[in-house]
Amino acid sequence: MKTFVLCNQKGGVAKTTSCYNLATIKALEGKKVLMVDLDPQASLTISAGMEGEHDDHNICTVFEGGDPLECAHVVDALEMDNLYLIPSDIELAEVEMHLITKSAREKKLKRALEQLDEYFDYCFIDCPPQLSTLTINGLCAADTAIITCKTDYLSYKGLKALMRTIEEIQGDPDLNPKLTNGGIIATMYERMVKDQQDVWSLLQELDVPFLGTVKKSADAPRTVYMGVPTVISQKRSEVAQEYYEIAALLV
Ligand code: ADP
Ligand code: MG
Repeated sequence: MKTFVLCNQKGGVAKTTSCYNLATIKALEGKKVLMVDLDPQASLTISAGMEGEHDDHNICTVFEGGDPLECAHVVDALEMDNLYLIPSDIELAEVEMHLITKSAREKKLKRALEQLDEYFDYCFIDCPPQLSTLTINGLCAADTAIITCKTDYLSYKGLKALMRTIEEIQGDPDLNPKLTNGGIIATMYERMVKDQQDVWSLLQELDVPFLGTVKKSADAPRTVYMGVPTVISQKRSEVAQEYYEIAALLV
C-alpha cells in the first residue's frame, strides 16, 4: 500500500477536494483505495455522503485501538466496490485531546494502517487545518506528503511552517525518516489575477516538486452535496482533467 497525505495547516486550500478526487481516480483505474478522514470537521466524510453512518466504527475507533479493517467502509454513493473510507466525526476532537497523554501518540495511525497494508493498493489521508497531533499522525503514517496551496501570498508564506514540520518528521528516526515531500498542488488558481500569477511562479521555484495546477472553477464544489467527486460527476471538466494529470504523477 502506498500512502499519500494531503496536508496544509490552512483551511480552505482544497485538501479534502483533492483527496477525494485523486483517490477516486485511482479507484476508477481499478486499484483498491482507502481514504482516511483525519479532520474532526469530517469534510471528507460529508463529501462522500457518509456522515453519521458509522459512528461505532470510524477514525475514533481506530485511535482507541479498534480493528482498522472494520472501520473501512465502501463509499456507497459511487458505483464502485474498491473505494473505501475510514470516516470521521466531531468526537475526534476529544479523542485527540486524550491522545496527548498517550505514549507513541504520533504513530497510532501508522500502526493501524500497517495492519491494512495487504488489503489496499493506495491510501489517501485527509488532514485537519492545523499542525496538530492528528496531522503529525498523518505525516508519520504516510510515504509521501502532498501539499495543496492556494495561489495567494499568505498561503505561500504559510508553507514555511509546514515544510519545517515535514523536515522535522523526516529528521526524527522515531517519527518517519522515510517520508518524502511529494510536492505542491497549486489550487483555486485564477490565471487572470496578477498577484496569483506571481505566487504561482514562486510555487514553481520551491525546493520540492510542482505537481500541477487546479484552477478555480464552480465545477469543483458542484456535486459535493450528492457525495460525488468532480472526476465522476463532471468527467470532462477542466478540474477533472487537472486532477487526472496530477494523479498520473502519484505512483
Ligand atoms: P480544505 O480541505 O483544505 O479545507 P476544501 O477541499 O474543503 O479545502 O475546499 C474548500 C472549499 O473550496 C470547498 O467549498 C470546495 O468545494 C471549494 N473548492 C475546492 N477546489 C476548488 C476549485 N478548484 N475551484 C473552486 N472551489 C474549489
Ligand atoms: Mg478539509
